Order: sequence, then structure tokens, then C-alpha cells
Amino acid sequence: MSKDYYNILGVDKNANKEDVKKAFKKLAHKYHPDKEYGDEAKFKEINEAYNVLGDDNKRKQYDQFGATFNQQQQAGQAGQGGQGFGGFGGFQGAQGMHFDMDDLGDIFGDFFGFGGNKRGSRSRSNQRGEDIEAVLDVEFNEAVFGAEKDIQLKKKVVCEKCNGNGAEPGTKIETCKTCRGTGKIKKMQRTIFGQMQMESLCPECGGEGKTFAQKCSQCHGAGIYEKPTSLKIKIPAGINTGETIRLTGQGQAGERGGPAGDFYIQVRVKPHSKFERQDYDIHSQVEISFTQATLSYKIDVDTVHDKVKLKIPEGTQSGTVFKLKDKGVPHLEGRGYGDHLVKVKIKTPKNLNKEQKKTLRQLNI
Ligand SMILES: [Zn+2]
Ligand SMILES: [Zn+2]
Repeated sequence: MSKDYYNILGVDKNANKEDVKKAFKKLAHKYHPDKEYGDEAKFKEINEAYNVLGDDNKRKQYDQFGATFNQQQQAGQAGQGGQGFGGFGGFQGAQGMHFDMDDLGDIFGDFFGFGGNKRGSRSRSNQRGEDIEAVLDVEFNEAVFGAEKDIQLKKKVVCEKCNGNGAEPGTKIETCKTCRGTGKIKKMQRTIFGQMQMESLCPECGGEGKTFAQKCSQCHGAGIYEKPTSLKIKIPAGINTGETIRLTGQGQAGERGGPAGDFYIQVRVKPHSKFERQDYDIHSQVEISFTQATLSYKIDVDTVHDKVKLKIPEGTQSGTVFKLKDKGVPHLEGRGYGDHLVKVKIKTPKNLNKEQKKTLRQLNI
């Protein structure tokens, strides 16, 4: 992958320094990744070419050792990251020639407004708003049957006064004087490869290219502001502790027209005095008398839905579990219900009177 730097910049081998610079500027402008028809790979290549051809010493070395130079560069790429830049002066250190935007992300990122493949990460424009996470305690029955809840929170919203553009309504929006509307500023920067012209996001307008005669009084020019907000949350029937409700687009508003984040609500179900939940089943316990357990009997059992008559068969032992089908929690997604499982516990009679004791003895059971 021997690179012809002259070809990349589209200049003649005899081109003077000024022409090389001109060609670089023109191409860098054209392929800058932030431009409409930008091309990051091409842009890197152009920079690489100019770093060499734009510097008298490096250009001389390149002219003389071009092919070798490129091979060594490849070796450098395969092996050792970007270390050894210092070796530039002497050609032995040429493995250090390898560089790309990723390695120089820290250096270049600051100047170009992007760092390697994290393109746009430093840009202030069109930032997606942050997600909000919250924990919501719900009553046992609300989780079973579903509910609607209002919650109050402070979150960033798009300013309704200025529609998010940051200007006080009725005042003039002007072209930014600092960047003349381009949203970028250029400055000469000394790098290890010599002087380079760098572009960065205009600090005055944040890359918008516009400034306002007067900032919006409500959001102070930010376009978004923190506002006490009330949100209606639908709790789906069947939800359980640890499950999360996601409200798309209900997180923090994005800056400069960026999309809003999401709102994640983690549900925590409060315990119930009588019922215990296990997935979609509900467990409870009832006490029955010795006589009810011994003879056949019908008892009332409370479920989350209603009271259910349960027939206790003759000779039921303490600890027996009866299943009340479909009397549990509705399935969160899909049809059907869990079951209600009721465990019976036999109350041993206490404090019997003389007569009762005598009868029991006679029964001898
Ligand atoms: Zn505003
Ligand atoms: Zn500006």
C-alpha cells in the first residue's frame, strides 16, 4: 500500500511549497468530515500527505526513500501503536511515522471537533438528551391490576418561549461574528508535524453560526431548561419488582434540536399483608379448625380478585396446598392468569372445658 502523496494532493512532483499548501487547503476543506460531502478516510489521507509534503525535511526524505518509507510505515501500523514520533529526524526511527487520526485523537480532536472514530463526540450540536432513571414504588394490587400514576419531576424540556432556538422572541438573530456563520473557527496550530491549520467549533455560537441580539430570558439562550414536569405513567397489569417501564422520548430534552433521552422507571412492588407473589402466582395461608379438617367443609378464601369458596375434603392434613386456578396475577404480555395457592394450617384446639375434653377422650381420636 505504497502511497503517492503527490497524487493524493494532486500536485506535481516539482510543485512548490505554496502550491502544496493550496492544494491541501482546498482538499481538506472539501473532505472535512463535518462537511456535507465529507470523507473521513480521505481527509486523513490528505492530512497525512500534507504532513509530509508540507515539511521541507520530510518531503526530502520522502522523495529519497519513498518506497522504503511506506513499507516501514506499514510495519509500524501492524505492530506498535503510534509511539516513537520523536524518531522522525533520523530515518532509522521511521517506524514511528505511523500515525492516524485515531492515535492522535487527543491532539486532533481538540482542533477538528472530532476525535478519530468518535466523530462528532465533541460537537455541541444536536446532542441527544440524557436518559432519566427512577424507581417507583407501587402497591401490590396496582402491580396486579395495573394503574395510572402521576409523578412529578424536574427535567430539561425544550424552551417553549423561544422554541428551542435560544433567542428572545422578537429580537434579531444575527450571523455569528466570530465564525461569520460557518460555525467553525480556524487557527494555526503547531504540531509535531509542523504548522497546521486546524478547525474547531466556534465557541461563540457553539457551531450554530448564529447569535442573538438578546438571549431568551427563560432558557438564557440554551434552548432547553429545567422545568417541574408531571408525567402520567401507565403501570401495566402483571408487572413485578425489578421490571422496567420505558417511556421513549420522555428523558431530558436534547440540546439544539437533538432528540430527547428516554425515561426508565424501575418498578418496586410493595409487600401485601396477606398475599405473597411468586411470578404470576399468589400464595396465601388460611387457618382451619380441627373439625373442619377432619370433616368435609367449605371455607371462604380471599384472593386478589374476589372471595372464593374452597371445599376442604375430609381428613385434610395441615400444610396441604390447594390451587385456585386462574386466581393469580394476569400475565404481563399475553393472555391468562397465574394461580392462587392456598396453604391450610390446622388450629389445634386450646383451652377446652371439662365437658369437651371428656367427649374428646371418649372419641379417642
Ligand atoms: Zn428559550
Ligand atoms: Zn460562531
